[in-house]
Amino acid sequence: MQVTYTVDKQQPGRVYLIGAGPGDPDLITVKGLRLLKGADVILYDRLISTELLKAARTDAQLIYVGKGDGHHTMPQEEINAAIISHAQRGLTVVRLKGGDPFVFGRGGEEAETLIEHGIPFEIVPGITSAIAVPAYAGIPVTHRNHTTSFTVVTGHESRSSSPNVNWEALAALGGTLIVLMGVKALPAFTRQLIEAGMLATTPAAVIQEGTTTQQRIVTGTLTDIAQKAIEAELKAPALTIIGTVVDLHKTLRWFHNTSSSRALTIS
Ligand code: SAH
Repeated sequence: MQVTYTVDKQQPGRVYLIGAGPGDPDLITVKGLRLLKGADVILYDRLISTELLKAARTDAQLIYVGKGDGHHTMPQEEINAAIISHAQRGLTVVRLKGGDPFVFGRGGEEAETLIEHGIPFEIVPGITSAIAVPAYAGIPVTHRNHTTSFTVVTGHESRSSSPNVNWEALAALGGTLIVLMGVKALPAFTRQLIEAGMLATTPAAVIQEGTTTQQRIVTGTLTDIAQKAIEAELKAPALTIIGTVVDLHKTLRWFHNTSSSRALTIS
């Protein structure tokens, strides 16, 4: 008996916008991994672990779209066009994004485009670096003795179309502050926070490549963290966490990468 497979051009394939987690490949969700294993086409970002991509079918098409921190290898319009054209051919498409697709991941824009083109899609949330990277550094974003809130903002405000972060309001808020994409802007926003009245002695940490074997942490205060991060030559991907919860790193640090001994803490 001969079996012929045809791709039905009338039926677009489904698109899954999947959060891959912050770096440690084990931090993808069970659902995300199951869908990744079944995908015909996978479009993935710069921060996606190569370990994770090994889960793809051997005949799956892997497309690197390289987005992340100012290195927009493929413009967003081209990424959208690629997702749509593969889906319109009836293929199952996975768009694999670092952390959570809806936390500074442009997942919202991609979902809007899919709606416009009538392509069925699902969102698979991921573990965001905003919470998981501090967790791997032994820093809980909230703690009853320290703070009842945390705020996640972007430090990358170069595009004039984006609304500006109100650093003055954040300084007054008093909770834990987590700044993504802010390595370059670190000297500027720490200064702005101090000028806006945040205590210069507030503990702060910058964590590079958190949750991976390359994890590096620099701790200090709002006054000296920028200089310390520069001296340590920290680079993206890195996030900054500001607030008294950062002090808990001293006692709660647990991720030492004993397998590779490559995690490094500079205080
Ligand atoms: N959607 C992602 C965030 C995308 S913006 C999420 O939910 O995590 C990219 C920024 O996330 C980076 O510039 C950095 O600030 C932060 N980031 C992502 N992975 C990280 C990691 N492993 N360690 C430290 N920061 C990370």
